[in-house]
Amino acid sequence: MNRSREGSEDRPALLGGRPVRPEGPPVWPGANAAVEEALRRAAAAGLWGRYHSEQSEALSAELAEFFQVPHVLLCASGTLAVEAALRACGVGAGDEVLLAAYDYEGNFLSVHAVGAVPVLVDVTALSWQLDAELLAAAASPRVKAVICSHLHGGIVDMPAVLELARQRGWYVIEDAAQAIGGQLQGRRLGSWGDIGVVSFGGSKLVAAGRGGALLCHEARLAQRLRLWLRRGPQEWAALSELQAAVVRPQLEQLPARTAQRAARAARLEAALAPFGALRRLAPLETPQTQPAFYKLGWDYDAAAFGLSRAHFLAALQAEGIAIAPGFRALHLHRSPSRYRAASPLRHATDAHHRCVLLHHPVLLGSEEDVLQIAQAVAKIHRYRQELAALPLPAPALSAD
Ligand SMILES: *Cc1c(COP(=O)(O)O)cnc(C)c1O
Repeated sequence: MNRSREGSEDRPALLGGRPVRPEGPPVWPGANAAVEEALRRAAAAGLWGRYHSEQSEALSAELAEFFQVPHVLLCASGTLAVEAALRACGVGAGDEVLLAAYDYEGNFLSVHAVGAVPVLVDVTALSWQLDAELLAAAASPRVKAVICSHLHGGIVDMPAVLELARQRGWYVIEDAAQAIGGQLQGRRLGSWGDIGVVSFGGSKLVAAGRGGALLCHEARLAQRLRLWLRRGPQEWAALSELQAAVVRPQLEQLPARTAQRAARAARLEAALAPFGALRRLAPLETPQTQPAFYKLGWDYDAAAFGLSRAHFLAALQAEGIAIAPGFRALHLHRSPSRYRAASPLRHATDAHHRCVLLHHPVLLGSEEDVLQIAQAVAKIHRYRQELAALPLPAPALSAD
């Protein structure tokens, strides 16, 4: 075939061709009639001017039911919830907190915010989640708590973490900000830890612009959370009635949406398999386990594909696909005086360099929407040599 006579839609958008998705990625949140109706009713009832009232009370009860936990506290964000959890667990100056070296940066900073020292633990080779087997070697008399974040469609081995934490007297803070709706062995992610955290941030799977919740088993810990979230009678970092009103219908929609996203993720995995360069982060293979996909994470093998990660991502973004690099690993480009490294952090370093993240909204679209991603990847693969010659600015790493 004569390349020069190919239609322009066959060339990558970055080389002047027509993008696979000229309209760009799907917007988030999409139109949601149930949310609009809930807002209309809340406004008509005057709830926009109220403090703590019927919507937040109903939401707390619904979250307690959904997660099967006795105590739920609503608050202003997931980040704030992590700090509240650390404080309720009594973590303070001189204490240590274990967390994965590949984790949400806010968690690392929250440990500092309470005056404690982050102790970085490597992630597993194939799933890039906190490696429970390395926790024992990271122990010290100063460790008070472990933060476990389920990231990018992966799931931390919570039974293994909890077993060790129980022996050592450590608290477990489970960050399910990326995994709301997921399950491990029939139990909701977020309900495994002593305290679980979810986020209702604007990009998250259940979105209220901002907001978060704390899920808690023990009355004593719940009381400490409640005290910290109040100054006298005032809740100083509350979720508003209107935020609660928009979360409630989304919680109802969540199980069906979680199943649809999982089905689309599986379809995409199959469609990308022929390239041999994109491996989905390994799932935890236990019964009654269902991941949730705030981001769908992949291990991108630049050498196998024949294109740097930066070029690959820039080319896919130009096709109208919402894809980005993963997190910056916490031990890289940061002073070692700000953490203790419990072990070599080899896999976290790999995750830093190789992770690519597909943003979730496309997983609620049609099968055609996810197949377009494979089409775009195919096009980029055909033109990889030409693309590799393009000068590119360094990409920003994912912040959320
Ligand atoms: C988004 C996120 C948070 C923080 O939630 P906010 O509500 O945005 O503060 C915490 N942990 C992880 C893993 C996240 O992805």
